[in-house]
Amino acid sequence: MTKTIDFKDKTVVITGAGGVLCGFLAKEFAKAGARVALLDLNEEAAQKFVDEIVAEGGVAKAYKTNVLDQANLEEVREAVLNDLGPTDILINGAGGNNPKATTDNEFHETDLPEGTKSFFELDKAGIEFVFNLNYLGTLLPTQVFAKDMVGRKGANIINISSMNAFTPLTKIPAYSGAKAAISNFTQWLAVHFSHVGIRCNAIAPGFLVTNQNRGLLFNEDGTPTARANKILTNTPMGRFGEAEELVGGTFFLADENLASFVNGVVLPIDGGFAAYSGV
Ligand code: NAD
Repeated sequence: MTKTIDFKDKTVVITGAGGVLCGFLAKEFAKAGARVALLDLNEEAAQKFVDEIVAEGGVAKAYKTNVLDQANLEEVREAVLNDLGPTDILINGAGGNNPKATTDNEFHETDLPEGTKSFFELDKAGIEFVFNLNYLGTLLPTQVFAKDMVGRKGANIINISSMNAFTPLTKIPAYSGAKAAISNFTQWLAVHFSHVGIRCNAIAPGFLVTNQNRGLLFNEDGTPTARANKILTNTPMGRFGEAEELVGGTFFLADENLASFVNGVVLPIDGGFAAYSGV
């Protein structure tokens, strides 16, 4: 209980760090003393977070990275090694869904109107895109960055799973399946690396309000939309989470003292959503 969280002298590599959640986590790791490498396909977005970190006196650098391109990942690993030192903590945050892998309706019906995108019309390329981005986009950076983490004191990996890994959400079979695969891979890695000192865990965020989904969740007058109401009804705590509420769980898993014997868990941060049957 006397242990305090401090990532001083740690190099933290975060993929998808130009995004809402991982950009936020990057800033928090920098505030806690870490040297942070922000990897994203969208270099400009990652650079914006870097500028904010540096303005506050932190140490961070942006790297244009495609998590699906092994050669590019190797180049980035080399650059991070030169700039910030070997990786201590890897956060695999790049991920997302695609409309081509999303059905229009929650339930299939015999009389769907012409032009409805049902399960039967889902696009193979869209499904591949989602599986590759989430699953391979977690596996490939791990192959590249974990090489430097073998035998390194306190080294650990945090993947980003989701609520839909426990029970699939309607409309998004590919994203749900890919996140379930990430939870499974988290356990696999935890076992595989257990003899060389790399712990591996995941967080499973519930429904968070970010700038990207605020418009989908709230009407202009601030009241929740129909889908938002459904989410809130199924969240026992009766509210959405905020990005900052991911920080405590992530820091706990990443901390070599607090979580030294925590390995292979998928931690829901969801206001009780995953625990609730709805009845
Ligand atoms: P976001 O879209 O804001 O960020 C994702 C980032 O990944 C973007 O900056 C994007 O440029 C980057 N990216 C996409 N393809 C890439 C590639 N090939 N290589 C490198 N970078 C790439 O998403 P977010 O809401 O911040 O989500 C972050 C993670 O959390 C994702 O894995 C997402 O699936 C997961 N998640 C989000 C929520 C939520 O409520 N927002 C809930 C559960 C899980």
